[in-house]
Amino acid sequence: MTSTLPSGFTSQPTTPDSAPLPVSLRIRQRLEAAGVPFLANDNIANQLLEGELDQLEIEVAGKVRELLRSLVIDIDNDHNTEETAERVARMYLHEVFKGRYHQQPKIASFPNVKKLDEIYTVGPITVRSACSHHLVPILGSCWIGIKPGERVIGLSKFARVADWVFSRPHIQEEAVMILADEIERLCEPQGLAILVKAQHYCMKWRGVKEPQTSMVNSVVRGDFRHDPSLKAEFFELVKQQESLLGH
Ligand SMILES: [Zn+2]
Repeated sequence: MTSTLPSGFTSQPTTPDSAPLPVSLRIRQRLEAAGVPFLANDNIANQLLEGELDQLEIEVAGKVRELLRSLVIDIDNDHNTEETAERVARMYLHEVFKGRYHQQPKIASFPNVKKLDEIYTVGPITVRSACSHHLVPILGSCWIGIKPGERVIGLSKFARVADWVFSRPHIQEEAVMILADEIERLCEPQGLAILVKAQHYCMKWRGVKEPQTSMVNSVVRGDFRHDPSLKAEFFELVKQQESLLGH
């Protein structure tokens, strides 16, 4: 490793195949071949092979180490940042962006045997994400309104699927749509309404530094969309749930 010659001039000729491709490149090639999108808020768990997530963790840690060096941080002598690269890689792949790399938590649905058709809301569910533009946190609350259809899922499951969907780099508008798609797939409700209120650290910590601003958005589908009184009932129930919390 003391040679200063460019690699093409070393005495040990190397073939293009001798170095294995970085794992991220192998995964990207597989995704492209399968026509599977891999945007920031897509989940790619189905395309990962056994052991690749561990290899990816090593690759990402190496890149974060390079990022820290490029930021002129002395990671070789600074005990505080010595293992930051490994921590950041773990955090991205298994915590804050786990919704990209890990399978959806197992959620069982059951037949709606009692033919329940009254609407109910669940919330607030804490949601945590990061903006796709700067990768800084988005923290908020989510309310879900359901008019049950043929199948039902347990109340706690809404929090689990929301956590999985939001744990990706997002913009809030798309996060809400993706969550709605997943809930529809899980329990095929007759009506679905979702409201998200979130604080964007993109605006609090950087940029305009406007600490009080929050973003509120909603999606209404099925009966909530067709029946204005049902939609009004959902927003009224959310207001009541909020006042219970003293907001
Ligand atoms: Zn941002």
